[in-house]
Amino acid sequence: MCGQIRDFIVPPRPARTLCGRTLAVASIADIKLKHRELVLTFDDGPMPEHTEAVLRALDDASVKATFLMIGAQASRNPDLVRMVAERGHTVGSHTNHHLNLKEVDPGTARADIDTGIENVAAALRPSRFPAAPFFRFPFLLGTRLLRKELSSRRIVVLDADITVGDSDVTLSPQRLHRQAVRRIVRRGSGMVLMHDIHARTAALLPGLFAEIRRRGFTIVHLVPAVAE
Ligand SMILES: [Zn+2]
Repeated sequence: MCGQIRDFIVPPRPARTLCGRTLAVASIADIKLKHRELVLTFDDGPMPEHTEAVLRALDDASVKATFLMIGAQASRNPDLVRMVAERGHTVGSHTNHHLNLKEVDPGTARADIDTGIENVAAALRPSRFPAAPFFRFPFLLGTRLLRKELSSRRIVVLDADITVGDSDVTLSPQRLHRQAVRRIVRRGSGMVLMHDIHARTAALLPGLFAEIRRRGFTIVHLVPAVAE
């Protein structure tokens, strides 16, 4: 089954399914993707309706993603946090209030990171699923100091290679689809950044999945490496 933990078997190419391997990650160096391998990440949720719609699209394609959640959103929607984890996806964090951590003092930045981590973990606590030590900087903007501190705490900072542009309200669904496909194909592999807070993102996914599957891409599922 796709997304099975610790499954390192790579499906034969050309891929008949989008479902790729599962990659255990202890540090950023572990994320080495081959040509036509993509990692799906969804930021800024969870949000009622939109997160559920994204989950349905992922289920329909039998692929697993990583959700980098905002702590305050997780506190407001703990059932959704658990639903994401129970459906087999990886849950990390994305600060508590989505501050631009480059523009605030280090103390404020640390507090926003840590409260976000705590709130996501608290939402998952009643379930048997722990949060992954995966973090993404809001706006992809971090400082060298914060990166160093996170790394020393064994928290993996996930950057992004491909932004599909799903936050751009000016794009029609057709243009968003073409832009997403173009950017993915041009890059060839990498971590794809999307958001589970827009109706247009969930609407984009079925067509995008069909197209990238046709082109031989597979989706790699990131999971935290089990500590020794
Ligand atoms: Zn964000």
